[in-house]
Amino acid sequence: MKRKISIIGSTGSIGTQALEVIEKLRDKFEIIALAGGHNKELLAKQAEKFKPRYNCLGEEGLEKICSDKENDIILVACSGKIGLKPTLTAIRNGIDIALANKETLVMAGDIVMAEAEKYGVNIIPVDSEHCAIHQCIKDINQVDKLIITASGGPFLKKSVEDMKNATVEQALAHPRWNMGKKITVDSATLMNKGLEIIEAHHLFGFDYDNIDVVVHPQSIVHSAIEYKDGSVIAQIGLPSMHIPIQYAITYPERFEGIKSKSFSFSEIARLDFEKPDYEKFPTLKLAYEMGKLGGTATVCLNAANEEAVFAFLDGKIKLYDIYKITKKMCDEHKVIKNPTIDEIMAVDKEVREQTQQFINLNFVLK
Ligand code: MG
Repeated sequence: MKRKISIIGSTGSIGTQALEVIEKLRDKFEIIALAGGHNKELLAKQAEKFKPRYNCLGEEGLEKICSDKENDIILVACSGKIGLKPTLTAIRNGIDIALANKETLVMAGDIVMAEAEKYGVNIIPVDSEHCAIHQCIKDINQVDKLIITASGGPFLKKSVEDMKNATVEQALAHPRWNMGKKITVDSATLMNKGLEIIEAHHLFGFDYDNIDVVVHPQSIVHSAIEYKDGSVIAQIGLPSMHIPIQYAITYPERFEGIKSKSFSFSEIARLDFEKPDYEKFPTLKLAYEMGKLGGTATVCLNAANEEAVFAFLDGKIKLYDIYKITKKMCDEHKVIKNPTIDEIMAVDKEVREQTQQFINLNFVLK
């Protein structure tokens, strides 16, 4: 029987790669719906090629797709907070989720995971690190620690001074992964890793003290877990997003699909690991702190960071200002414990407005 799937964010980086996977596994999938972001032409091309039952552009239609119980699984691959409410709708309709959208768990992880449990829904992570952990875990109760790897981004070997004066081009030159602009800047500051530890906390139910980050420039070890007896299981492979996407949408089965070239230990020859430098990458420390605070602290972290990243991409601020601005907004934030979705959305909006205001007053007009 074919697995019925819809893709939210089909025209984005993850969405297009998911369709490449599905193209290789045409006999395994039937596409119910495709939802694109802004790229009307690409969506039309995809619709013609993959013949979904329906498709939509933008935010409208996401609720319809996510309440369509015909779906066995929905790949949530859009970026930003627009993924949150439709994902909850899908969960409440008993539809499994392949999750690539970070905001869903960073903003509302407590609610999303509780609903998934209540409705007996699988949430299978697409992000390479969480996908790796998902693959390693056999019995979660026996696991002591999660070890998330970070490539370290383009500034790993650069000085703090170099980083302070970094241009947009330098920040966007990620050595290992080809991704969207926002996530690439987040990878340069290690905020991306910060958001990933928050996601891991929710996905796997681990305390922040039991989630470690290790810098691993080659991006071969995608993450690892340590069992109570000290045994470490790591998932390794060549860096490719096709593999975790395929894993998530075909889980628990595995197919050849888009197989990466066979792995050769001798060709790789060496793997390096080092501790993250919290002085150079203070955003990672900030993410741990806000994660531990919980409630709306991570909503504030995410919203302030995103607005600051946009300002950096617009040339309004320097790379290091992203941290300063995010930290200031987090320091001033009054955390709501156990917020509702409406409260989460309100905090998100408020923090974004405050961040923009702060940037306009302190940076742009200088
Ligand atoms: Mg990742």
